[in-house]
Amino acid sequence: MGGIGGGAFGSRNDRTTVEASSATTEQHRRRVLNDGRRRIFQLAGRQIAFVCECGRPTCTQTIVLTDSEYDERRRRDGVLLGHEQG
Ligand SMILES: [Zn+2]
Repeated sequence: MGGIGGGAFGSRNDRTTVEASSATTEQHRRRVLNDGRRRIFQLAGRQIAFVCECGRPTCTQTIVLTDSEYDERRRRDGVLLGHEQG
């Protein structure tokens, strides 16, 4: 005895290539990072070196702002940090 039913496990591997845009992921990652930095450093009321949120994996720019400046930037039509003109 012992007939194996077979096919109980969905062998369907619907891994839709969710690589829509790695830049977006990178931006999100950096935002989370900046959020963490802000939360930690705002207590000191000092300037914080935030990472650029342009989304380029190769970008290593940092932007120094106070936590309130950072908040304001984000609130303004969700402007990303870094790579400003002028
Ligand atoms: Zn950048």
